[in-house]
Amino acid sequence: MVTGRTDIAELELTELEHAVCELGVERFHARQMYRWVHRRGLERFDGMTDLSVTLRRQLETALTLTTPRIAARDQSSDGTEKFLFRLADQRTIESVFIPDTPAQTFCVSTQVGCAMRCGFCLTGQMGLVRNLTAGEIAGQVRVLARELHLQDRRFNVVLMGMGEPLHNYEATMKALRMLATPEGLALTPRRVTLSTIGMAPALERLAREPWLPNLAVSLHATTDAVRHALIPTSRKQRLADLVAACRRFPLKHRDCITFEYVLLAGVNDTEADAHRLVKLLRGLRAKVNLIPLNEAPGIPFSRPPDLHVDRFARILASGKIIVSVRKSRGRDIRAACGQLIVEGGPHQSPGQQAAAMVRS
Ligand code: SAH
Repeated sequence: MVTGRTDIAELELTELEHAVCELGVERFHARQMYRWVHRRGLERFDGMTDLSVTLRRQLETALTLTTPRIAARDQSSDGTEKFLFRLADQRTIESVFIPDTPAQTFCVSTQVGCAMRCGFCLTGQMGLVRNLTAGEIAGQVRVLARELHLQDRRFNVVLMGMGEPLHNYEATMKALRMLATPEGLALTPRRVTLSTIGMAPALERLAREPWLPNLAVSLHATTDAVRHALIPTSRKQRLADLVAACRRFPLKHRDCITFEYVLLAGVNDTEADAHRLVKLLRGLRAKVNLIPLNEAPGIPFSRPPDLHVDRFARILASGKIIVSVRKSRGRDIRAACGQLIVEGGPHQSPGQQAAAMVRS
């Protein structure tokens, strides 16, 4: 960045092939380099041991390789781990590793801060500082995979860290393509979930992508008045239009859209809300993930009592909606937001699901 040299962390494989050809280097070396960077998480050219020493020197002088640096690492008593990354311009972002849910899950950020300003979210209070680059988004995954020795294992990625992925559309989609590349981590779309407040035009654009992640939409309300109050930046969009855009979203066989719903005491957790939600989502291949608020100083809302969470969930379940309650993990290290445990599923009856939820 500073040197004006091309940063290979920002390149998809085809772009990297192009860049090495421009240097007069044979194209096939790009695959080797891509493997070192994206699969092995290497940070320097000199470790690329299947390239000749001369070639490594040449690459080092002509190109750069930027990797987010781990500035701090905190482990929760429940195994959740929060990573603080320092970027090249000294800005910091957070990523979270959530083990055994039963999958291994990485929760990554797409922006420094966020412009959406959801009233219950700490990141929203920061405002947007800047977008992350594709290399910074994919970089969180490759460093986590390396540090946790999961490079050759299966893991999921959820874009539920800091930021609104559809507000940083190009970089997010490029990062997903970089991660999907077989020479890299070969992360298939099935194992990625993009969480968004869901602006309809961006959803329509996403729907046309050849490389489609699972979709999670942050709904949080059943009336326009409440949603607009909670998410000021959603004011131009009616809830009915958002749900209509979701109905048009192409779903593969047996897939469904997840609707996230942060439960705020006395604001959106009433029985009437639950019934309206059933009506709103009727006929949609949907599941609802209830997230009892993670309270924090400066957030002017409170978490409903478990009894209300349970009541809300039971109404959804009896309305034939698949429902889960997100269990907040890592709360002791303030890593709770965006952590997911799915209890219940399509194979369970609503009664069983409700029973499973009581324990959270
Ligand atoms: N911008 C994306 C990703 C944000 S974080 C989105 O809005 O979907 C992922 C989820 O955590 C969102 O559903 C978000 O609303 C939720 N969330 C934010 N703050 C929270 C809090 N304090 N407690 C519980 N969930 C929260």
